[in-house]
Amino acid sequence: MIEMEDKPRDATKAGSDGRGTGSRSDILGDRVETDRNVLDKNGSAASFRGDVTLSPTSGDSAGDLELLRTARDVCAPKAIGVVEDNQGIHLTLDRGKCIMCGMCQATAPTAFKVQSSYAQPARRLADLVKTQFADMPSVGAIMPIEEIGKQLSEKVKRTLGRSLAIREVDAGSCNGCDVEVAALINPIYDVARFGVHFVASPRHADVLLVTGVCSRNMDLALRRTYDATPDPKVVVAVGACACTGGLFGDTYATSGGISHTVPVDVFVPGCPPRPEAILYGLLLAVDRIGESAD
Ligand code: SF4
Repeated sequence: MIEMEDKPRDATKAGSDGRGTGSRSDILGDRVETDRNVLDKNGSAASFRGDVTLSPTSGDSAGDLELLRTARDVCAPKAIGVVEDNQGIHLTLDRGKCIMCGMCQATAPTAFKVQSSYAQPARRLADLVKTQFADMPSVGAIMPIEEIGKQLSEKVKRTLGRSLAIREVDAGSCNGCDVEVAALINPIYDVARFGVHFVASPRHADVLLVTGVCSRNMDLALRRTYDATPDPKVVVAVGACACTGGLFGDTYATSGGISHTVPVDVFVPGCPPRPEAILYGLLLAVDRIGESAD
């Protein structure tokens, strides 16, 4: 915990309505924060483990190759590929599986770099796989939360003529992604101001926001929830588990991602994804609703 530098909350400095000055210390209340840069423009602290980038020159030597193979072997969700063909050695990284543990960077720091910005959601699972020669920009580098929200608000108004209704389904998560989804409605993100709200029934929803691996026990429940959602509907898979099964993969108790149970329109990588990445995923989802309505 970090003591904030702002002065203590002082009732004598409150606004005329007696509700405080609206400063950061007023918003956070007790002057104790867990992240010094909680409201910075990038939306994530420097220590946040987000997207992993690949060096375009790694694999140029035999010593490198050994390191890359070791990194591939220590990657628990098997997100790293080392492809050797007659053109040389290519590294691939599946963001849909990556849990941002940082083990690859610890093993081969010249080849892998864990960034503090988050990975970009995609409409197709295949688009989450990157190679060392064709990297994708990360969302944090593209737009701050306010800009994503502004675009989302305009698109929702144009496409639906009302607000966007979301039903969240936990299909067997550790709760990490659900905490980030819940953060969307806290005072910092407050997505209601962008015309986005959560509903209690799939019958009232435009979007199903699904977290978790889809455990076998949740398979039928997820399918029924999908069937109960009126058309046009879109499904957003939130987090590595929902995208691909993540660390759990395909086991006797899990299905290897929710796309084995319901059609998925947008994949949001991360373990867990930041609220900004989830909001960006919703931006892609609204595009999808617009296409289905055409
Ligand atoms: S950060 Fe991602 S790619 Fe690297 S070892 Fe961990 S799961 Fe694998």
